[in-house]
Amino acid sequence: MSYQSINPNDGNVLKSFEHISNAQLDDALAAAQACFQSWKQMSYADRAVILNRAAALMHAHVDDFARLETLEMGKRIGEARGEVKFSADILAYYAEHAEAFLAPTTLHPAAGEAHMESSPLGVLFCVEPWNFPYYQLARVAGPQLMAGNVLVVKHAGCVPQCAIAFEKLLLDAGAPVGAYTNLVISYEQSDRVIDDPRVKGVALTGSLGAGRSVAARAGQNLKKSTMELGGSDAFIVLEDADMDQVIPWAVWGRMYNCGQTCCAAKRFIVLEEVADAFLAEFTSALEALQPGDPMLETTTHGPLSTEAALLQLLAQVDAAVKGGAKLLLGGKRIDRPGWFMQPTILTDIQPGNPAFRDEFFGPVVSFYRVKTEDEAIALANDSDFGLAGSVWTRDEARGKRVASRVDTGMMFVNNINWTDADLPFGGIKHSGYGRELGNMGIQEFVNKKLVRTGHFPAPV
Ligand code: NAP
Repeated sequence: MSYQSINPNDGNVLKSFEHISNAQLDDALAAAQACFQSWKQMSYADRAVILNRAAALMHAHVDDFARLETLEMGKRIGEARGEVKFSADILAYYAEHAEAFLAPTTLHPAAGEAHMESSPLGVLFCVEPWNFPYYQLARVAGPQLMAGNVLVVKHAGCVPQCAIAFEKLLLDAGAPVGAYTNLVISYEQSDRVIDDPRVKGVALTGSLGAGRSVAARAGQNLKKSTMELGGSDAFIVLEDADMDQVIPWAVWGRMYNCGQTCCAAKRFIVLEEVADAFLAEFTSALEALQPGDPMLETTTHGPLSTEAALLQLLAQVDAAVKGGAKLLLGGKRIDRPGWFMQPTILTDIQPGNPAFRDEFFGPVVSFYRVKTEDEAIALANDSDFGLAGSVWTRDEARGKRVASRVDTGMMFVNNINWTDADLPFGGIKHSGYGRELGNMGIQEFVNKKLVRTGHFPAPV
């Protein structure tokens, strides 16, 4: 099977790419390993020059990067521009802060002196998803290149042109060959990479199935891994929430990137006092969205990334309805070319319905009505996932108390500002382990070495 770039707006095949051979893969790993020997010796300042140049190039060519992404995975053009700028900012953020994050830290043992120092591990293998074709790459490239590691990257099969553009960006910025290598490879070849002794760590962002497979392989090889997997985030609306603030965030939280975001709001859990009002306003806001070409600024509802993604979502909605859920809105493919699905609302989802536990990776709302705050928290926690969630209330202290009781890696009170370069990102349970971004993200693939000094008599 090859990688295929297909325009989700009309289904036209743009380009295809064959998997590289095993010999080419071996050459790529050898180049990465050779590059690591010099890259790790470079000063932070010299590495930062390259990362800052890459950030500047991205900013200078926002439209080119954004248009490619819109063409290849259907993200609305305004959202794509935002992603490109943010990706550049992540590279610049690590160029500025990596040295301080990885500076030696002094310990205070009872006797003698000690410190911890950080050194890069070597070649890292990154497996990345299509839903943020540049941001996902920046999340690993920024911190890990600045830490002195080098990367070989398998991007998703449906965004090969974005993958190539990002590799070219780093080369254009002056990164040596081998510092960042894009690999067009099969799953079997991915296993070969994980098994290869030159590869020292594995980072994956993707689905639960991919995570299980790649993490298991890394585990067999006793290699450190981080897993950024799916989510089914709760959006908890308490009875004192400010609806004027809640509704626009509910629409953005579910519909941004056509609902294809790991930490999108997916389960809307609303206190019964405000449930009817919330549902009425949310429904009319979703009905007002205008499907269209994601390249046009006026479009408010774009396509899904692939036809397979669309068919899977439609099947999930059908299964939910067969399982007893009610379809309040949408549920169908939109009658036009491309991979468009109607904004959809499901209600009356009971435990036992597959929709109760599964992730809907698209414009599908799961709506739940609850009687109490405790019931809302219990329902939020009744999930195999544990990525993020949000709480909406006029009482911020109450919001923080609720946030503390929800079992996820991230919680947001009265917003879903889910990512910034300086804030750690990641989940628990089936949403994975490890963190990307912030100081925590750069610590994942470095050797934390203890050095203790002092003249102690040998024990007798
Ligand atoms: P996916 O099918 O798991 O694909 C993600 C990446 O993994 C792709 O590069 C894919 O390659 C690769 N892959 C899948 N199975 C593999 C295997 N057995 N061995 C090696 N590579 C494998 O995920 P997706 O459907 O594209 O992305 C959506 C999922 O990612 C959702 O569950 C979403 O919540 C999650 N996600 C999580 C985060 C986070 O930070 N937590 C962020 C974004 C997305 P191919 O494309 O070639 O199949």
